[in-house]
Amino acid sequence: MADPKGFLKEGRKVATRRPVDERVNDWNEVYPDGIGRALLPIITPQAGRCMDCGIPFCHQGCPLGNIIPEWNDLVWRDDWSDAIERLHATNNFPEFTGRLCPAPCETACVLGINQDPVTIKNVEVSIIDRAWESGTVAPQPPEWLSGKTVAVIGSGPAGLAAAQQLTRAGHTVAVYERADKIGGLLRYGIPEFKMEKRHIDRRLDQMRREGTIFRAGVEVGVDVTGEQLKARYDAVVVATGATVPRDLQVPGRELAGIHQAMEFLPQANRVALGETVEGQIRADDKHVVIIGGGDTGADCLGTSIRQGAASITQLEIMPQPGESRPSAQPWPTYPMLFRVSSAHEEGGDRVYGVSTKEFIGDEDGNVRALRLVDVTFEGGKLAEIEGTEREIPADLVLFAMGFTGPETNTVVQQLDLELDERGNVRRTPTYQTSVPGVFAAGDAGRGQSLIVWAIAEGRAAAAAVDEYLTGSTSLPAPIKST
Ligand code: FAD
Repeated sequence: MADPKGFLKEGRKVATRRPVDERVNDWNEVYPDGIGRALLPIITPQAGRCMDCGIPFCHQGCPLGNIIPEWNDLVWRDDWSDAIERLHATNNFPEFTGRLCPAPCETACVLGINQDPVTIKNVEVSIIDRAWESGTVAPQPPEWLSGKTVAVIGSGPAGLAAAQQLTRAGHTVAVYERADKIGGLLRYGIPEFKMEKRHIDRRLDQMRREGTIFRAGVEVGVDVTGEQLKARYDAVVVATGATVPRDLQVPGRELAGIHQAMEFLPQANRVALGETVEGQIRADDKHVVIIGGGDTGADCLGTSIRQGAASITQLEIMPQPGESRPSAQPWPTYPMLFRVSSAHEEGGDRVYGVSTKEFIGDEDGNVRALRLVDVTFEGGKLAEIEGTEREIPADLVLFAMGFTGPETNTVVQQLDLELDERGNVRRTPTYQTSVPGVFAAGDAGRGQSLIVWAIAEGRAAAAAVDEYLTGSTSLPAPIKST
């Protein structure tokens, strides 16, 4: 085990981000020279804080079942090559989760009962960054080919994890992606300042060398039909994400200057990487209002700051976490409803417990203000508080209110996939859809979620596909579908 008294000697320390004044002037990650490198001076004693408890709840907190105490111990012993081997045993892409995961493992850490939890996420990213830098992350091509073929539709973390597992198991896998580049939300949703895209490209290079085939710029349902894929491949994995954004139909919705976050962020990501986007939606010198307080809202905030917004206000309908709870809701407010991100250190105002009543336009049909009202959830019902209506300036409004489910007009329709009561692709506990040979993983089946769940579902769906194709499998299946 790691240092038996480590947690008594050391307090929790995390990597220091670059100064706000510096980092808002560029699009690079908020940590100096990559977080893994920034952490090296402090990470060994931090890993040594792991108590290696009898029942390590961090395993269960992590959907991937990461064997966290083992790699904490190995880092503390300076055995980085075994540490990456143990980390990769459960997680295909620790460079994504080590940067982007809200770390449910840390919430589950037993040390967290009466001290600050172990910096598990920081240890994870240190291990993988060091492994890439030292050249220990090598392609693992299969030793033999099964002769079976699999099409994966969608190249987000779920599709990529499924593809890597199935390729390594010997199947010939092609990943279809309608965007011009592979990566799903990792590529065009999540900004460079949270994760630089070079991390995706490096991993894709490994996957290509292992034999995974990537077909970017091909929309299944338009450029090739679902039926054609089904006829051509022995199995199909639908990993198309939950891409239908929630809308807000209040008076003035039709005004110019009101956009979905996923119209704004992909353009900003492209421009940050040197592309030109004709008619780009930009925040410069504008009063920006972001409606929604999750990861997407935080990404809009950091992006608007870097584009030079005049002011930014982020609205959230739920009360501020920690505020006295309404009697109808005696349980704690789920902290992830209003996430705290690096962007929140950089600027902008956050307003809790408000609802948008109307968008107000100017004579040219552009939004110029937003009328909001304070709300409570007394009696389990949303109620407006009389006399609190007010206007705030808004030249650019960004909706970041979550996603209602997968698109149903292409893949789902052509493959005749059943949906569940929430509008997601229906699966059995082993990821089989209503159509034999077609499996679904990630947000398409689960509903909007997290990268760590997408990777776990991709891995588990790969095990189900492998068993379907060959009659048995030795691939790990960390979670059943819900
Ligand atoms: P996606 O990543 O959505 O990928 C689906 C892919 O399928 C897309 O590339 C899409 O173009 C493609 N596709 C769809 N239909 C077709 C078709 N017909 N043919 C071909 N291709 C198709 N989670 C975290 O854990 N941490 C974060 O910090 C975080 N930040 C986020 C920020 C934003 C702005 C958003 C929107 C989400 C964020 N999330 C975050 C959530 C996380 O990104 C998702 O849960 C995760 O990416 C889901 O993975 P997926 O593989 O299921 O789908």
